[in-house]
Amino acid sequence: MASLFEEETTFFADLILPVPIPSLFTYRVPREMSGMIKVGARVIVQFGQKRVITAVVANIHSNPPSKYQAKYILELLDEQPIVTTRQLELFNWVAEYYLCNIGEVLNIALPAGLKITSQSRIQLNPEFEHDDLLTDQERIVIDEIKRHQTLSYEEVERLLQRSNITAIIKSLVGKRAVILFEEVKERYKPKVVRKIRLNASYTSNDALSKLAASLDKTPKQQEILLKYLSYIPVYNNPDLNSKGLDKSIFSQDDNVSDASLNTLVKKGIFEQFEIFISRFDDIPASNAVITLTETQKEASQQIHALFAEKEVVLLHGITGSGKTEVYIELIKQVLESGSQVLFLLPEIALTTQIVVRLRKVFGDVMGIYHSKFSDNERVEVWKGILDGKFQFVVGVRSAVFLPFDNLGLIIVDEEHETSYKQHDPAPRYNARDVAVIMSYMHKGKTLLGSATPSLESYYHAQTGRYGFVEMKQRFGNAALPTFELIDTKKEKKSKKMKNEFSSVLIDHLKLNLQNKEQTILFQNRRGYSPYLQCEICNWIPECANCDVSLTYHMKAGELRCHYCGHKEEVTRTCPQCGSTQVKTMGYGTEKIEDEIHSMFPEARVQRMDLDTTRAKNAYQQIISEFEEGGIDILVGTQMVSKGLDFDNVSIVGIFDADRIIHFPEFRASERAFQMLTQVSGRAGRRAEKPGKVLIQTNNPGQRLLERIINNDYEGMYAAEIEEREKFHYPPFTRLIKVTVKHVDEATSSKAAKVLAEKLTANLGASRVLGPQPPLVERVRNQFLFDILIKLEREKINFKAAKSFIQEKVIDILTDKTLKSIQVVIDVDCL
Ligand code: ADP
Ligand code: ZN
Ligand code: ZN
Repeated sequence: MASLFEEETTFFADLILPVPIPSLFTYRVPREMSGMIKVGARVIVQFGQKRVITAVVANIHSNPPSKYQAKYILELLDEQPIVTTRQLELFNWVAEYYLCNIGEVLNIALPAGLKITSQSRIQLNPEFEHDDLLTDQERIVIDEIKRHQTLSYEEVERLLQRSNITAIIKSLVGKRAVILFEEVKERYKPKVVRKIRLNASYTSNDALSKLAASLDKTPKQQEILLKYLSYIPVYNNPDLNSKGLDKSIFSQDDNVSDASLNTLVKKGIFEQFEIFISRFDDIPASNAVITLTETQKEASQQIHALFAEKEVVLLHGITGSGKTEVYIELIKQVLESGSQVLFLLPEIALTTQIVVRLRKVFGDVMGIYHSKFSDNERVEVWKGILDGKFQFVVGVRSAVFLPFDNLGLIIVDEEHETSYKQHDPAPRYNARDVAVIMSYMHKGKTLLGSATPSLESYYHAQTGRYGFVEMKQRFGNAALPTFELIDTKKEKKSKKMKNEFSSVLIDHLKLNLQNKEQTILFQNRRGYSPYLQCEICNWIPECANCDVSLTYHMKAGELRCHYCGHKEEVTRTCPQCGSTQVKTMGYGTEKIEDEIHSMFPEARVQRMDLDTTRAKNAYQQIISEFEEGGIDILVGTQMVSKGLDFDNVSIVGIFDADRIIHFPEFRASERAFQMLTQVSGRAGRRAEKPGKVLIQTNNPGQRLLERIINNDYEGMYAAEIEEREKFHYPPFTRLIKVTVKHVDEATSSKAAKVLAEKLTANLGASRVLGPQPPLVERVRNQFLFDILIKLEREKINFKAAKSFIQEKVIDILTDKTLKSIQVVIDVDCL
């Protein structure tokens, strides 16, 4: 037995703080906490002078830190871990792979609702006596505190009607009149419903009739009882009583006074209680049976068989082949085996049809994790996974950070989508790639699906690293759409173009309207026109903060910068030469919408782009309206192409294909193939309504267009992969982009040069490109320089190369001659 005098062990905890600092921090575990604290639980600690933040326990041990005095943990928030050990393992991997801090990963992973915020408040110093020392303003504050016990800074501001109150508070602290403290608040609020029910002693029929009779003299109270019984027929079945009735039913009723109800509660006849409810509607699973087609069945079996030997399988299924049904089959199998399933979708696809379809099958074991959801809703998904309510989650990229502990399968739908990659802030991760790692960790499997796979995934499938399954039939014998390339050069010459519209496209639009069939028009540029220009002196309005022309938005009547959000009024006179001939140049979705209105005033037109879908349900509303036939022509950016499944679309029109194909970027062909194939895939999805795609181009003879219209992915792949190999681009190399930023161009350029030299010295000139300014050289007043590093997949020790790069970046960041330089490292940049 331990002697009474022997010291108990003191415990320390290494904590992950959700801030961008490179290491874990060690805090001291207070004795009363030591039996309870667990790895993965949240704690509250003081960080810096005043700040109080939420942290997560990563390790518990008994070694005090050598370099600093450990502070005490202030509070323990969770009895059970809220972050699983599998998650901690993943967070570490992400931090290491993407060269960022684990705190940054935690910060993205934890919904804000699980982070505690603190608010500074003041209270009276109990030892304060010298009232006479106070100024008038200070006295007002003190009087108010005496009334309310404590005040927040905002309350003091409101009280004094001024915004700068730090001086006053400092002075009050100096006079020892008040004490500052931090009040900690948990942001997550469960949704509560107030209910009432009969006291259990009145639920027998005998007791009930006695009770009713006893209320004869108080008819108002009697009425409440009768009303309650009309909703909850306790006399038929006493068990019904325990669930009670929403109190709101009474408060909405004018005939019921709160006072009478309260009296009944006071008398102990009724009792009030509260229940926590989910913010998600409990939609029961319907037993709708889907029978897989032969093609789907085969694909499903192949995937199953391949999983026996491969960790990852790529499903290449053309648009409309019914990949979702194949997914559903697999998900069912995995759920039945008792493992969890994660289904990743690109942001935009998530609010729509597919979720409804999955909900119908899986009901309320399915959680949905979306960035447009409130914090509270996200916390509910998080907790629902922890307590086993949600075995299956459909979510956007950040869903990879949810607290799974037993993932059997991760599906990444539309795996080629660039929105799986996070650009800003760190971690700059790609959820598809994280998914693959994550399923290794869980000993589960990953299924990647797409009609237009990324070159990387297809390459891995070709070389045998991934399993590979194809579906080349559309569901229900629907044919792929037919294509027509429209030569806009020719049309222009013969003056047949009407603004942006070729005569061929106009004819088809007309016919389609007559036939009451729907059209999708695709222009991958929002706004009215991408720039204005003076016809006399060629002046173009540009953003004051970025080196980019301002986009004209007609409805809003303003010019907007799509890089920094800067807005200004439209000028119709040129500030340079004074002429009034400032014209719109080029065109975006808004202009197309406008022109449709004037050509076909009777057509019902809707636009779908970033500008029309900012509100929470706007996107969903447009989709539903289109589905229900309330829109004839839908004009949009690539938003219209994302996994949508419509019955009645027979024409898809594509503007400006050349600009997409010739975008100055090494992935342009791949992207153009994906984008144009996906948007075309919205047409003719039902066998009885074949679809047609019209592509306007200046050069109908280009190879890539030929491959798109022949649905020749393999051809595109073969041509592209050769180029990639020749010029050392992914999938043969991994790319790391290092961006140097500074408000002063010379400083930025110098830092970038120095850094590039250091990198080249070790990595060799063939692996380091740049520095060079990106397409837009100045953004938000900072001058940018990019250095692109290409590292061969084989041959190079990626980890070592990355630490070398990180070292050199730190050199630059700590170089005193290059003050306040910023450097961003993007691993596997797109
Ligand atoms: P993809 O995602 O491959 O483009 P979808 O999964 O959206 O294709 O399927 C296309 C359409 O065909 C959807 O409307 C879907 O409901 C329908 N469908 C696919 N397979 C089946 C099936 N086995 N039974 C009934 N309907 C199906
Ligand atoms: Zn001018
Ligand atoms: Zn700008």
